[in-house]
Amino acid sequence: MQILRNRAFTDAVILFALFVVGYLFFSYVEAFEQIVEFVEIHEDWELDEGITSLTLIGIAGFVYAVRRNHEARAELKKRKAAEANGRWLAQNDTLTKLPNRRFLNSFLQKFDNGQSDGKNTARYAVYSIDLDGFKQVNDLHGHAGGDALLQKVADRLTKAAPDDLIMRLGGDEFLVIADAAKDQDLPGLGKSLSDAVRKPMTIDGIHAEVGASVGYVIYPDQVSTLEDAVRSADIAMYAAKNNPSNSVMSFSDSMGEEAASRAILERSLRVAVRNNDIVPYYQPLIDFETDKVYGFEVLARWITHDGKLIEPTTFIPLAEQIGVITELSDKLLNQACEDASKWPDDVMLSFNLSPTQLSDRLIGLRIISILAEKGFLPSRLEIEITESAMVQDVDSALAVLGDLQSAGIHTALDDFGTGYSSLSQIARFNFDRIKIDRSFISEFELNEKQHNIVKAIIALGEGLDISTTAEGVETDSQLAELKALGCACGQGHLLGRPMPARQVATFIAGDNDDRSGHGNPGLVRSAV
Ligand code: C2E
Ligand code: CA
Ligand code: CA
Repeated sequence: MQILRNRAFTDAVILFALFVVGYLFFSYVEAFEQIVEFVEIHEDWELDEGITSLTLIGIAGFVYAVRRNHEARAELKKRKAAEANGRWLAQNDTLTKLPNRRFLNSFLQKFDNGQSDGKNTARYAVYSIDLDGFKQVNDLHGHAGGDALLQKVADRLTKAAPDDLIMRLGGDEFLVIADAAKDQDLPGLGKSLSDAVRKPMTIDGIHAEVGASVGYVIYPDQVSTLEDAVRSADIAMYAAKNNPSNSVMSFSDSMGEEAASRAILERSLRVAVRNNDIVPYYQPLIDFETDKVYGFEVLARWITHDGKLIEPTTFIPLAEQIGVITELSDKLLNQACEDASKWPDDVMLSFNLSPTQLSDRLIGLRIISILAEKGFLPSRLEIEITESAMVQDVDSALAVLGDLQSAGIHTALDDFGTGYSSLSQIARFNFDRIKIDRSFISEFELNEKQHNIVKAIIALGEGLDISTTAEGVETDSQLAELKALGCACGQGHLLGRPMPARQVATFIAGDNDDRSGHGNPGLVRSAV
């Protein structure tokens, strides 16, 4: 625009100069009088009409040029506005009107480059904020409700830190860069940001509430670049997320080390899944009426190269977080079907699904296709789903259970008593089995309350015609008490520990021996 303006000015100066030179020259030679004389001499050539037309065309040309110039200017103005709008859209979030991640990236690049020139003397506190429970609001209020909540959160953060840079980095993630040179109460600001999010709000007249996990770090006191500050604030935020007693946490070096070892664990988990280093182990499930094995539960075991066994509680949640749970689960089920095909036909296979898997609506169909591929009877498979998984995404859980049940696959409600599912849900989901959580069994002989809960769950199972399996049976007296209460089945170290596939056949044979004569099936047999 500036260039065009300069050019127009130069053109105007040249035209004006030409006019002055022309005027002086034509005045000097008396050009007009000579032309008039020439026209009069050659009247028959009709030169006067020609000259008049030329003059009019000249004037019209001038008017046209002025109009075109106006149009070009308006066009340029529009283009400039569109460019500015495009630039704004690229660097800001349209929903909350806050700067976005792209803005942050260019901000960091500019800042950290300036820093290497020794220009920056600033001190900043960087806060990473992540909402807790946003998904539930989205599920409950729909996407429009979720959007309204994000806008409110953005407004509140802006009010809590009016002089600071507030960004929305995507989803329910926000970042605040606050000037720490000012004598600010930095932990206090973290708390205000967290409180601003937590305060209940109404969306379309309905009450809504989300939590916030906040992690922060101070630059340059704790980190050497602003980019590191953002990364470290994220690490502190994750630490806060995993710490129920503290929703605002300052970054510490040990958190950095934890994150680094987690990154190593993540990498080796990916490799382990790819290389089939995670294999199914099988724990016997015993029918108390016949004292016979009615099935085996698949429990994943990660066998490291030095022969160490890693427990699933360490890697299943991690596999969910890094997105390899589907691959891992499919491989385990494939292997388990192969192993179980060699067992007697009446021995069931029990397989766990984790909460995140249940929100994948296609999981049921994938399980069915694995069974078909392996030629494994759906009625021999029981899928275990925890109570907490059922309440996370009820619609998806219902759809998946529907798929499984209509294919003839059995379903069990795992870890019963630890979650929040209501009794009406149990009836609605049509489970074939309830598994009483281990925590009740470990204490039910000593604690009357726990005893009453176990009794009530068994009665509930009977009332709904659902079989009950007690988990974590470790002692003879627990076994005797459970049988006395009418519990149908059990599982636990007393009845058999998880074992590798190659030991299952021996276990089943031993089990048959026990039944065929003497011996107590409740004895600890195979142990790994
Ligand atoms: P879970 O489904 O409740 O499995 C039973 C857990 O109790 C197993 O722990 C088992 O080893 C343990 N256990 C069995 N009997 C006893 C006992 O008498 N005493 C004690 N103290 N513990 C006993 P494990 O193998 O560490 O598995 C932990 C959890 O990891 C499982 O809990 C299950 O939720 C999950 N998991 C295991 N394998 C898989 C899998 O392949 N996929 C998914 N999604 N989750 C899995
Ligand atoms: Ca289970
Ligand atoms: Ca369980």
